[in-house]
Amino acid sequence: MSAFALSVPVTATVAGEPHPTRSTFDVVNPATGEVFAVAPDASAADVDAAVKAAHNAFAAWRSDPAARRAALHAAADALTTARDEIAPVLTAEQGKPLAESAREVTTAAAYFRYYADMELGRQVIRDDADALVQIVHRPLGAAAIIAPWNFPLIIAAAKIAPALSAGNTVVLKPSPFTPLSSLRIGEVLRGVLPPGVFNVLSGGDKAGAAMTEHPLIRKISFTGSTATGKAIAAAAAADLKRTTLELGGNDAAIILADADPTAVAAGIFARAFSNTGQVCVAPKRVYVPEKLRAQVVEAFAELARNARIGDGTDPATQYGPLNNRPQRDRVAELVGDAVRRGATVAAGGAEIEGKGFFYQPTILTDISDGVRIVDEEQFGPALPIIGYRDVEDALARANATHFGLGGSVWGGDPEQALAVAERMEAGMTWVNTHTATSFDQPFAGIKWSGVGVENGRWGLEGFTEMQVIHHARAAKIAAQR
Ligand code: NAD
Repeated sequence: MSAFALSVPVTATVAGEPHPTRSTFDVVNPATGEVFAVAPDASAADVDAAVKAAHNAFAAWRSDPAARRAALHAAADALTTARDEIAPVLTAEQGKPLAESAREVTTAAAYFRYYADMELGRQVIRDDADALVQIVHRPLGAAAIIAPWNFPLIIAAAKIAPALSAGNTVVLKPSPFTPLSSLRIGEVLRGVLPPGVFNVLSGGDKAGAAMTEHPLIRKISFTGSTATGKAIAAAAAADLKRTTLELGGNDAAIILADADPTAVAAGIFARAFSNTGQVCVAPKRVYVPEKLRAQVVEAFAELARNARIGDGTDPATQYGPLNNRPQRDRVAELVGDAVRRGATVAAGGAEIEGKGFFYQPTILTDISDGVRIVDEEQFGPALPIIGYRDVEDALARANATHFGLGGSVWGGDPEQALAVAERMEAGMTWVNTHTATSFDQPFAGIKWSGVGVENGRWGLEGFTEMQVIHHARAAKIAAQR
């Protein structure tokens, strides 16, 4: 894969054409801290143009399922072909290792293929002498898709593919920290999808708000922070727009007394530090029996000390920088707060000097609930390891949060581990793993972690509304006379 050179300006896509905007904003490479490109900054008028294009394309797109299937397969092919050109763009703006960026493009393409042929079909719920009653699923119209910066392409594709498959049209707005890879996807798919079916704009939070307030938007699918999710729910309520909200998490991992400390530390570390800890559904606090704590902490610290941090374009890099300066500063602030409150730093604990937004993989212990890094979502490479008395104590602490995205239990006895996992208050719970997802496994948070479900048939249903068609039989009509 060659180094990414921004040889042509990256443009917004509206109605199948490049869409110029009056202003632009800077895009920073988090590995260097330097501006390397600019992106179009969409105004409310640009948002209006994109939403109208999506609205105008809806009638034709919804009416031809065979054409939709063919177009979605063609989109998957086009993205696969463009993988090595999009991946370096993603690494340059997001920071993740190039191999992970390439996998992200492949996964995004696979979402298009997965949903291309999926149909919700028609369900007959009654068929007798009196009536034929059927349920069909109707698309909603123009959908606003708003994405965060940690997995810009996978998260967007997990929404775009079911939205389009169900017959909706889309306006996508990526995060202003990672606009370019999504804009590139818009460019790659021009000419593959009919004009107006898929529009891509970049811009800040105001552009997002303009999308959620636009009267022609009928569905908002959002992934991001809980605070923004609440603002979007409030904006949507004014017009009763349908919403799917995938929000923040503060997943607990509970280690049981019969677990192998080294194996469990390796399993949790890989998932907690993947993407430099910037994963919504990663373990973000670890509960361990007091008597295993020292061993487990040392195993984690060893892994943290040996992790290879660096620029994502270096093939030796396992973990890249934080995506942006505010996020790196937030992790530093939460670690500093924990240390001031008496936490011990078993590994890491500081920013990495030099260019870019790097932070050492950090393991904290001698820490408990009530400290910010335990109670809040850190979304970065710092993990608190908390001792517990007994399993009831661990469960009570794991569940004492507004968040409810994922959770995991690690132990040798599967029966016991499953029983504990079932009592975790989270939309997804795992035994001896964490973060494991797939196209056909529902992805859903409870409590403040989300509203609605993605993936599988549930993800497709989320972009539709149910219609009941009740057909009275002749005999029934006669009897009513
Ligand atoms: P964010 O909420 O700051 O921003 C997400 C997107 O929303 C951006 O595109 C932003 O421009 C836009 N936005 C901001 N204000 C808006 C408004 N008022 N109206 C409309 N759009 C608006 O989130 P972030 O910092 O980019 O992402 C990190 C967060 O995302 C973390 O909390 C993480 O847990 C969460 N996340 C959740 C999932 C999940 O599936 N549950 C997945 C990935 C990330």
